[in-house]
Amino acid sequence: MKKYNFNAGPCILPREVIENTAKQILDFNGSGLSLAEISHRAKDFQPVVDEAVALIKELLNVPEGYSVLFLGGGASLEFCMIPYNFLNKKAAYLRTGVWATKAIKEAKLFGEVVEVASSADKNFTYFPKNFEVPTDVDYLHVTSNNTIYGTELHKDLDVPVRMICDMSSDFMSRPVDVSKYDCIYGGAQKNLSMAGVTFVIIKDDALGKVSRDIPTMLDYRTHIKKGSMFNTPPVVPIYTALENLRWVKTHGGVEAMAKLAKQRADLLYGEIDRNKLFRGTVQVEEDRSYMNICFVLNDEYAELQQEFLDFATSKGMVGIKGHRDVGGFRASCYNAQTVEGVQALVDCMKEFEAKH
Ligand SMILES: *Cc1c(COP(=O)(O)O)cnc(C)c1O
Repeated sequence: MKKYNFNAGPCILPREVIENTAKQILDFNGSGLSLAEISHRAKDFQPVVDEAVALIKELLNVPEGYSVLFLGGGASLEFCMIPYNFLNKKAAYLRTGVWATKAIKEAKLFGEVVEVASSADKNFTYFPKNFEVPTDVDYLHVTSNNTIYGTELHKDLDVPVRMICDMSSDFMSRPVDVSKYDCIYGGAQKNLSMAGVTFVIIKDDALGKVSRDIPTMLDYRTHIKKGSMFNTPPVVPIYTALENLRWVKTHGGVEAMAKLAKQRADLLYGEIDRNKLFRGTVQVEEDRSYMNICFVLNDEYAELQQEFLDFATSKGMVGIKGHRDVGGFRASCYNAQTVEGVQALVDCMKEFEAKH
């Protein structure tokens, strides 16, 4: 039976990306060695990093003066590296979920943190609006897509300060005005690659402004200077990222990804709103994520939770159980999710409704 992968992360990747990675793991560029065996300093590997960096810059229209890094440690390590490198006295944070809350916790170790707005009062099911950002902060930290709760900012905010953004789960899903950001980062396992690599885009001249000493490995300048090769980088996940970036490019770039994302989201939210059994957990339409679509059973049908999960599983749906903080269901629709996959889930919801 065909499986439809709705996992939130690690997530679905295009089949050809997996196949091409598999080929290189068996024999890298006809060298007779596996991609998993070669040195990151092998002459054939440098072009992999170079092309991946160039593709990120090309696809997101990254202006001059920015560096692109591939690091280890996940987005979670960035929560600490960001304030280490950018927070001199005071920073502003938007608290829009668990990940943002974790980022705030780390930032507090380095200076004053102003929480400019929070959606915690309604379990993070909306994106705060009409908040004031103080102009004397070093940056405003934003989480553009809240993977657990299914809220998303669909365009870059207009604020009077520089921004830093955790784009773990909507990176490469829409065009971004990179010039508004001093840093954009995320764990690759949501929409870029397999687990094990973290992408970071940094405005070079935003660095070097904090007065503290920074440990070598946690100092972005170390990695910029060495082109992500200060120590051994995660070679295989970087290769997969390259294959996926090539795939995004040949499929029309981020504009095409954004169009597809909207098409998938309209299809699924349309069914959630129509179907008598279900309701979306995010009520404000413009806040609804195109990447992580969260829904629950209406109260009068709440006892059908397990039955729907079993039914959907029997139809090939994978990974639609909601996060424990939200309950219900979550269908993650990253770049490689097909409209056909979403249609299969919609059919499943319709069929289940007819049975009840
Ligand atoms: C998954 C996720 C993280 C954590 O990523 P790791 O790479 O596992 O540290 C951080 N932020 C967001 C928005 C996420 O979805």
